[in-house]
Amino acid sequence: MAKNYRAELTGVFGDPVDDNPTGVVEEAAFQEKGLNYRYLTIKVLPEDLEDAMKSVRIFGMKGINLTMPHKVKVLSYLDELSEAAEIIGAVNTVINRDGKLYGENTDGKGFVTALEESGTDLKDKVVTILGAGGAARAIAVECALRGAKQITIINRSEERGAELAKLLNEKTDCPARYLKWTSAMEIPGDTQILINATSAGFSPNVKEKPDIAYDTVTASMCVCDVVFNPAETVFLAEAAKRGAKTVNGLGMLVRQAALNFTLWTGEEAPLDIMTEALKKEF
Ligand code: NDP
Repeated sequence: MAKNYRAELTGVFGDPVDDNPTGVVEEAAFQEKGLNYRYLTIKVLPEDLEDAMKSVRIFGMKGINLTMPHKVKVLSYLDELSEAAEIIGAVNTVINRDGKLYGENTDGKGFVTALEESGTDLKDKVVTILGAGGAARAIAVECALRGAKQITIINRSEERGAELAKLLNEKTDCPARYLKWTSAMEIPGDTQILINATSAGFSPNVKEKPDIAYDTVTASMCVCDVVFNPAETVFLAEAAKRGAKTVNGLGMLVRQAALNFTLWTGEEAPLDIMTEALKKEF
């Protein structure tokens, strides 16, 4: 049989992108599975995105991740979108299917998979989300698509928070509301799943935590954080003190990388290897 020295290409376009750890995780998985794939971490300026997306087609790349500031603008260069990507209006993963570029958003799917694997599902659950940025948007839409009963968005900036609640009400079947974030914000008592989707507590600000009334977090809640560095945030520690079940942001990150791996290679992802590779980075 003729040898094939050509590697299949994947990667990420972003600016800045130097500190993005996804390549380490994907490369560990490719190696584990004996796949001749590469993951390239590439700086792409906003004005060069169109040409960069052409290169995905020209090089026959299997796919590409998009990070800041390309997640919204990339929509103009794609052939098709998943339901979640269409509602969110942002794409973080592109799959090249025989020259057709398909946009997906695995941010929310990674979160939901990690949550479900921890033993909590979203069907008929009352969800409260802190934050209304890119991560919150993706998570909120995925929670709605998975059958959450009600979603409350709490955010400092009213414009962003109210806009996300409106998006959920207009484009999904899940009722949603926005609450303005006040000092020592009380968490609604009927909350079953509480999610910090803000960047509060992310390294190096590891002592920072969302400004909520922690006594309103109860043992019946499942409390999740998107912050993955550090994995155990002060927010989660405060929730655990009150007996709540906690789910950290590392799981979301690894599950996202695993979803990308499967979308690009068609193979099951080696989760343990990917988790170990990621942990070594922090
Ligand atoms: P954005 O910049 O889009 O949004 C940031 C959000 O956090 C906004 O809602 C902002 O509120 C809020 N915020 C920031 N600081 C505070 C604070 N001190 N108190 C209250 N609210 C605050 O960022 P992303 O949504 O893209 O990312 C958010 C976090 O999620 C980051 O830490 C990122 O690393 C993490 N993340 C984790 C992933 C994972 O796989 N685990 C995947 C993607 C992101 P306002 O609108 O009022 O400014």
